Amino acid sequence: LIGQKAQKEGYKAYAVGGFVRDLLLGVPNLDIDIVVEQDAISFAHKIVKYLGGEIKEYEKFGTATITLKDGRKIDFATARMEFYPFPAAMPEVEETTIKHDLYRRDFTINTLAFRLNSDRFGEFLDFFEGRKDLEQGNIKVLYNLSFVEDPTRIFRALRFESRYSFQMDEGTMSFLHNALENNVLQKLSGTRIMEQLQAIVSEPNPSVIFTRALELGIIDNIFGQCTKPQQLKKDLRKTVDSVQILQEKSIIEQKDVLLVYLLVLINSYPKKAFEIVLNDFNLEKGSRLIISNFFNGGLDRIERLKSSKHLDPSEIYDALNSLSIHCLCAMMALADSDLLKNRIFLYLEELQKVDVETTGNDLKKMGIEPGPIYSKIISRLRQQKLNGQIHTKDDELNYIKG
Ligand code: ATP
Repeated sequence: LIGQKAQKEGYKAYAVGGFVRDLLLGVPNLDIDIVVEQDAISFAHKIVKYLGGEIKEYEKFGTATITLKDGRKIDFATARMEFYPFPAAMPEVEETTIKHDLYRRDFTINTLAFRLNSDRFGEFLDFFEGRKDLEQGNIKVLYNLSFVEDPTRIFRALRFESRYSFQMDEGTMSFLHNALENNVLQKLSGTRIMEQLQAIVSEPNPSVIFTRALELGIIDNIFGQCTKPQQLKKDLRKTVDSVQILQEKSIIEQKDVLLVYLLVLINSYPKKAFEIVLNDFNLEKGSRLIISNFFNGGLDRIERLKSSKHLDPSEIYDALNSLSIHCLCAMMALADSDLLKNRIFLYLEELQKVDVETTGNDLKKMGIEPGPIYSKIISRLRQQKLNGQIHTKDDELNYIKG
């Protein structure tokens, strides 16, 4: 349909990038990327009239996105011609624009395209041996300075390696090391690093990606020298388990996961990492507070939970109450004993849900003058309830009378 429209209206349109890559790999990818050799925004307007859905345009970038009624997205970008030092002979004139556009991309496996125009629909474009690399499982940059030009590609490489069980080829690895020696990640803004870390934790196994990043010196490039790399690898593996357990129980959501990994990572780095995250990562105030609390006293609160053999449920509650779920999930991951891990889990799954039913109004009706005594009574009731001494609201009221 898009191809017919392109043909009729005189546009040249190509399916490109991740969509084509995943199509050839047989992996589902609902988002379609289309490059148009003319103005992509005007083309997208013609298509949205045809297919329905909602259109958003980004004038500055010459791009537009249509969100179809079923939620699928089609991205339209105008083919970009930029100077590039590619030494090979120029292709036929009509292919120059799309070839330039594809050359700007991150890895050869993302440079595959096929024509959508109905006269040559499906004709496959593979200027940079992307198909061969796809078959051989290679992540390969298109030019030496690719990682220097855009360091976010370093994280993208790791994600693709893990997602498809691919590997960077030798040349790409040496360009990567070169880029790291030049500290390219320190030039990347905290916001862009956060976007990349977010993308990593959205992959099925973030711990494998972070571990690879650690081994390649990528995390050290951001945070300084890791103080306990072997321990961090173990902690990362345990983080996957803790996140999974708590997600299955609907105690944490996907949006909470990044913060959990950040806490685990910072824990194995010198103080500088903590400062970088707080000052440069452009986090919301709430997230900064959580990180700050975790390293300023939060972690110490589990000391008692580690050492005491017997603890009443109310004592576990008091130790963990007021720590955020991110902190608790990270503490579960960092826990060095099952006892500690089980206690945190008990708090999250049961103890934090124990509610006192008696209200201020009830206390007033009982003739107790409002004041600080109210919160004392409520916390006493909670303690009794947590320890299983009372159960119902009647029990609570009788306990107060007694
Ligand atoms: P994912 O599946 O994680 O969404 P993707 O490659 O399918 O990855 P996008 O991240 O939306 O999807 O990128 C779309 C296309 O844009 C890629 O296939 C690639 O060709 C190009 N691209 C994205 N980021 C970069 C980058 N940093 N440098 C060069 N090209 C990029």
